[in-house]
Amino acid sequence: MLRADFPILSRTVYGKPLVYLDNAATTQKPRCVVEAITEQYYNTNANVHRGVHFLSQQATELHEAARECVRRFIHAERTSEIVFTRGTTESLNLLAESAGAAFLREGDEVVLSEMEHHSNIVPWQLLRERRGITIKVCPVTDEGLLNLEALERLLTPRTRLVSLCHVSNVLGTVNPIRRIAEMVHSHGALLCVDGAQSVPHRAIDVRELGCDFLAFSGHKAYGPTGIGVLYGREELLEKMPPYQGGGEMIARVTFAKTTYERLPYKFEAGTPDYVGSHALATALDYMERAGMDAIAAHERDLTRYATERLSAISGLHIYGTALDKEAVVSFNVEGVHPFDLGTLLDRLGIAIRTGHHCAQPLMARFGTEGMARASFALYNTREEINALADGIERVRKMF
Ligand code: PLP
Repeated sequence: MLRADFPILSRTVYGKPLVYLDNAATTQKPRCVVEAITEQYYNTNANVHRGVHFLSQQATELHEAARECVRRFIHAERTSEIVFTRGTTESLNLLAESAGAAFLREGDEVVLSEMEHHSNIVPWQLLRERRGITIKVCPVTDEGLLNLEALERLLTPRTRLVSLCHVSNVLGTVNPIRRIAEMVHSHGALLCVDGAQSVPHRAIDVRELGCDFLAFSGHKAYGPTGIGVLYGREELLEKMPPYQGGGEMIARVTFAKTTYERLPYKFEAGTPDYVGSHALATALDYMERAGMDAIAAHERDLTRYATERLSAISGLHIYGTALDKEAVVSFNVEGVHPFDLGTLLDRLGIAIRTGHHCAQPLMARFGTEGMARASFALYNTREEINALADGIERVRKMF
């Protein structure tokens, strides 16, 4: 029973069993991940790469083994293509800054979509301020799908890069990345995929997807906070300048000139989160043992079941009805503010998220200030969805 691996799931809040349905914000951690962290601090803690001593070499081996684990998990060709960052947000900022410097000139175009998280919008706007690029936005249909015909029309000879989420953190829509990659590449542009909401839920093969870059966060995939990944094709990363300067990322420093380390270290200035990387690898191993296809099937069943149960509630409207939809159900209940709904459900022990979900342009697209969102992980059950549906019914009757 996988739930037993997650100690926090057996706690109560307000005297009620915890029903944790806020997994798109962050997942809970299995015991093996927490133990990997304490074990390393108790037994193998030393700074990596620079030490000749035993502990430093052991810590370095764990850190580099973690890189290999990530490479295998997303089926990248080489470990030089795996850059450790603080999370999706930092990965996308690194990309905008560094790919911006290497590949984008004034007047060049970057295409985003209406369903992006702020962390896949704002870094490109910062780049627009610095370099005078143009940002174009692919619309979303009423069902919550990317409008692919509109996307094709947005691609011009000035398009250099398209950056899209794989799975929307609000609508749950799974975007057809492989098809989009073909479209984008046929126009000579690059494709970045925000995998924050896909990597935790389905088997990922970056070569099969055909993307040039992929960003994701450890903490949404049962790993610790503060560690994430930017995958990039080696030939592109080679052309990109460093993002930050400092130790670790240099080959040789003189006051006249500094040369940089080889990939991926060129992008990893300063002491890396080597405890986080090892714990992330432990989490990815855990997911692989559970089976990515089994996780995906279980969460799809929960998503379908939740859609069925919630749609039966009078006055409840679900946003996003894509056929290929993953682990997220966002909704509003007529006459109940999402914040009130979330607060009252919390008193019943049910944790959901309410608000704009860091996707204000998408809220505007659907004409609302906010939504309630239930999101699922491998340890959730149909019983928890029953508790959610019953809880919503109770709250609805109070208004
Ligand atoms: N992109 C998407 C689709 C997300 O859902 C999130 C987090 O909710 C992020 C990016 C940002 O992730 P992080 O805060 O871990 O950097």
